[in-house]
Amino acid sequence: MTKVLLTGGAGFIGSHTGLALLQTGHQVVVVDDFSNGNAEAVRRVAELAGLGPWGQAAADHWAEAGPGGSRLHLIQGDVRSPQDLDRAFAVSGGGIGAVLHFAGLKAVGESMTQPLRYWDVNVTGTVRLLEAMVRHGCQTLVFSSSATLYGTTDTVPIPETAPLQPINPYGYTKAAVERMLTDVAASAPGWRIALLRYFNPVGAHPSGRIGEDPNGLPNNLFPFLCQVAGGRRQRLDVFGGDWPTGDGTGVRDYLHVMDLAEGHGRALDVLLAEPPQLLTLNLGSGQGHSVLELVRAFETTNGLTLPYAVVGRRPGDSAVSVADPRQAERRMGWRTRRSLADICRDGWAWQSANPQGYRSNEWHPTGELIGAQQVS
Ligand code: UDP
Repeated sequence: MTKVLLTGGAGFIGSHTGLALLQTGHQVVVVDDFSNGNAEAVRRVAELAGLGPWGQAAADHWAEAGPGGSRLHLIQGDVRSPQDLDRAFAVSGGGIGAVLHFAGLKAVGESMTQPLRYWDVNVTGTVRLLEAMVRHGCQTLVFSSSATLYGTTDTVPIPETAPLQPINPYGYTKAAVERMLTDVAASAPGWRIALLRYFNPVGAHPSGRIGEDPNGLPNNLFPFLCQVAGGRRQRLDVFGGDWPTGDGTGVRDYLHVMDLAEGHGRALDVLLAEPPQLLTLNLGSGQGHSVLELVRAFETTNGLTLPYAVVGRRPGDSAVSVADPRQAERRMGWRTRRSLADICRDGWAWQSANPQGYRSNEWHPTGELIGAQQVS
């Protein structure tokens, strides 16, 4: 059992990973500024993990104990703030044994119009986090990296040794953080760092209680498609029908978010069990599916028809991006277990039960309450 700090633990991947960690016996401390995550997601994680009700009425006790004793804590805080990080490291007697760093901005288009924000949150935020780890004597870190680092490569499938050639500010910040973590790992003995390069995480927990809840118009295919299925968007625009692929639409490696969550658990186990090291792994299924294949799978699995139109290509896109996931299997015995049909079924279970995401049922513990409780 390890006490794990999850930055961005109220977001899509963080919330699912928090649940997986709780279910394997770990203690979890979430720090999130709720800019793209939601306290309600963490409340539901507590519920799914069987930690008992956690609501506004219980909020004045949550910093002391959290639901189910002291297994889950939530702190509203910004990774760029040393004070917020110190509070997170100190909660419930301290003793954080590892950090999973999900907090960051991830919209490619936005990164091109607001590059400074991306460098600040993604890079400065990670510098501040590492400084806090040093202050608190924690040297184990799992970092959310991305297949976006590989840029528009023609290599299929893509091994970890492929050249890194990001093509937008979002990708540059991920590459910069990988570089920085490589330097940190080499700077002193004892660092245990995993760089996990995600391909396309999609789907939701099978309960339909937690899932992806993008702010505004979804940038990514799967949440967009779910919103079309739910009637929140009129139709899906398929970006390009003339790619050099089987049916002319882009091919990606979609993996179920619960497989990804379990991958983080495995990475943590390996880091803690083996001598200090820097581990760089692709997390993907190794299978490619085109946009139209995903649309058809979603329709078949859920008995729905999705209106779509093929439009022009999106700038910066590539034809195919598929992981070579063999290293992850070799190094940590992990591979995806869930199918495209599982992804479509679980994604739709979440979307249909929560048509407005968490907004329809939001939980707003106040910042003052959280702050006041955590400081003590
Ligand atoms: N895509 C699409 N319509 C959309 C969003 C995405 O056709 O509204 C396509 C996109 O061109 C790519 C695939 O779906 O081929 C996956 O895109 P996404 O943005 O989800 O992931 P990424 O491009 O980062 O792999």
